[in-house]
Amino acid sequence: IQTIREVDPEIARVIEEEEERQQSHLELIASENIASLAVMAAQGSILTNKYAEGYPKKRYYGGCEYVDRAEQLAIDRALALFGAESANVQPHSGSQANMAAYFALLEPGDTVLGMNLAHGGHLTHGAKVSFSGRLFNFVHYGVDRETETIDYDQVEHLAREHRPKMIVAGASAYPRFIDFAALATIARSVDALLLMDMAHIAGLVAAGVHPSPIPHCDVVTSTTHKTLRGPRGGLILAREACGKKIDSQVFPGIQGGPLMHVIAAKAVALKEAQGAPFKQYQKNIVANAAALAETLKERGLDLVSGGTDNHMMLINLTRLDITGKDAEAALGRAGITVNKNAIPYETRGPKITSGVRLGTPFVTSRGMMAGEMKVIGGMIDDVLRDCGNETLIAKTRDRVRQLCEEFPLYPEKGLES
Ligand code: PLP
Repeated sequence: IQTIREVDPEIARVIEEEEERQQSHLELIASENIASLAVMAAQGSILTNKYAEGYPKKRYYGGCEYVDRAEQLAIDRALALFGAESANVQPHSGSQANMAAYFALLEPGDTVLGMNLAHGGHLTHGAKVSFSGRLFNFVHYGVDRETETIDYDQVEHLAREHRPKMIVAGASAYPRFIDFAALATIARSVDALLLMDMAHIAGLVAAGVHPSPIPHCDVVTSTTHKTLRGPRGGLILAREACGKKIDSQVFPGIQGGPLMHVIAAKAVALKEAQGAPFKQYQKNIVANAAALAETLKERGLDLVSGGTDNHMMLINLTRLDITGKDAEAALGRAGITVNKNAIPYETRGPKITSGVRLGTPFVTSRGMMAGEMKVIGGMIDDVLRDCGNETLIAKTRDRVRQLCEEFPLYPEKGLES
């Protein structure tokens, strides 16, 4: 980053220090990942200079012949990877993908059934603080108190009672497979559309290690930067019948010029996702999550729903008598980055919580495997049980640093220099 250092040494420093932080910490935030150097090269390219309002071959600006190719490649690769009928690769984020899909298929005030935020749903699934909760009449389903898995009977009951125009599936903090066929049956029975927000699990779906929502849903929204390991951004897949409406809601409905450099980076990520190493990577993410969950359980920790089917898990801290906020801080001092998270039937506020969420996409991208997960699980348990023991935390910090040194963020960079 020589040029940045010359032009803006303060920002150059931020980048260097953040790189060092990512290198020397165990990032267990379930929504984070390590974009490849190829993805970042596209994202940092001169394509950022180009305005291209519209869609390939239908632009409102001249000079779009090359960016058209980038966007068409991204669309074609998304269609092939997920087996969808139409794709829009322009949403700037997952939230904007959801906004465009809602605006395309709903009117303000319409009733929508979505997953409760406190049970794992996302803000854009109808939280009052989000545009979604302000503009639409969201009703929420959640998980069963005993099994802590989605209560499909409740979904059906609420669907019959409220006759929603749309059912929204998907979550930010749900460690189990989602039964798309069951949700589709419920949606059909009340004549509702089914939208699946697969932001968290898109990579798993692409690799076939999680059932695909595509055959069951009218619309599938996603981010491109979580398990899919692309640049930060959004994506919408839909049935042909919805595709045109969605395109006109993304642009000109809610966005202006598309981020052509990001769209090119999405194309690169979608190409990477077609290869065998990506499939193996996704299998490793799930195997690592299972190994981490097993270790935590063997140590006697409580996991929401008793474990995981995907890339994440939630520790219920109630029996340890510490809050999510304190757990996040103590683990942070030990070099282990997690986020506090509400657990189902949470009694504390969202800034405190009784849980932490852990995910394996980032550490799996570094090449860590089940053996490392056992070590990490042990360290997490030790710290959670003795949050005020700064000697233990300092010792753990050293072990984390050593482990991180064995698994560089970008090993190719080391080879180049
Ligand atoms: N949908 C789900 C299920 C998510 O978990 C997230 C992000 O955490 C989003 C949507 C929003 O994505 P973004 O942060 O890109 O707006």
